[in-house]
Amino acid sequence: MYKATLILGDGIGPEVIKAATSVIEAAGVDIGWDEKMVGQAALTKYNNSLPDDAINSIEINRIALKGPTTTEIGKGFRSANISLRQRLNLYANVRPIKSIEGTKGKYDNIDMVIFRENTEDLYMGIEHMVGKDAAESIKIITREASERIASMAFSYAVKEKRKKVTCAHKANIMKLTDGLFLSSVRSVASKFPDIEYEEVIADSLFMKMVMKPENYDVLVLPNLYGDLLSEMSAGLVGGLGIVPGVNIGVEAAVFEPTHGTALDIAGQGIANPTAAILCGVMLLRHIGEKDAADRIYNSVRNVIRNGKYVTRDLGGCSNTLEMTKAIIDSL
Ligand code: ATP
Repeated sequence: MYKATLILGDGIGPEVIKAATSVIEAAGVDIGWDEKMVGQAALTKYNNSLPDDAINSIEINRIALKGPTTTEIGKGFRSANISLRQRLNLYANVRPIKSIEGTKGKYDNIDMVIFRENTEDLYMGIEHMVGKDAAESIKIITREASERIASMAFSYAVKEKRKKVTCAHKANIMKLTDGLFLSSVRSVASKFPDIEYEEVIADSLFMKMVMKPENYDVLVLPNLYGDLLSEMSAGLVGGLGIVPGVNIGVEAAVFEPTHGTALDIAGQGIANPTAAILCGVMLLRHIGEKDAADRIYNSVRNVIRNGKYVTRDLGGCSNTLEMTKAIIDSL
């Protein structure tokens, strides 16, 4: 039996994460889930949105399946997500973006993987007021963090027989910070002569991505642009409800959907469980359960293609449980 930490999260988190664990169980993989609280649930219970208990559990198990957690915009305390990534040194956010027939995505030929640096850039949260009417945020980029995200992207490209890595930056404007990111990625690229390497200015990438997303394969970006691109790319393949992701470092991997807590639909049982279930698929691949992962992926694809048992965001009228059951039946 495998052991993994389970964080149900806030909003629609518990609904979609429970769907994912039930599909994994139905696929015959035995995982002992160590359930912990993070986010609003933990704040309410322990007055701490990121209890040590949860961190310790992930450190021991080295893998976690996590639902979205609430981030209070503009309030004094830091996001539990960002703190979690920094404390576990989950330095990469990896998002596979793949077209699935039957979604509302406008493209049927996208198959790319985004590697977003996850620990620095403007997301370090080093900001302060300068007097009453100005605010300042400090952007940190280091060679070490830039090289390790680039190494992960290139190593992945080799392992998965991908052809090209694209690095996005704005070194034309931020010559020192983005300049350092770019030169770091370049030096890693030089060690992988068999992988095609290209560089693109971030704003131009967004335009090109919307016009010809099939041109992209593996992408590597600093934190902020990576965040924006991941979200936009989810839209290209049919929305937040279907895109999985993982925050990963040397010691641990936390699999969590791209979408947030979706408080507008929370508690109604109508959330699309696909993103969470595909996080389960990524988790299974990570632990070597490739066969179960492939079977679940194919079932999800069949159910969405068939269109009979899909949630509202995919144009259907099934609820979370009905869609999950259809996926399990298709296994
Ligand atoms: P947060 O503040 O936690 O990021 P949010 O509501 O601002 O949450 P999302 O949760 O990502 O952002 O939701 C954006 C929109 O997408 C919402 O209208 C939500 O209902 C919809 N949405 C997100 N996830 C799903 C899902 N799994 N199924 C159906 N709709 C979803």
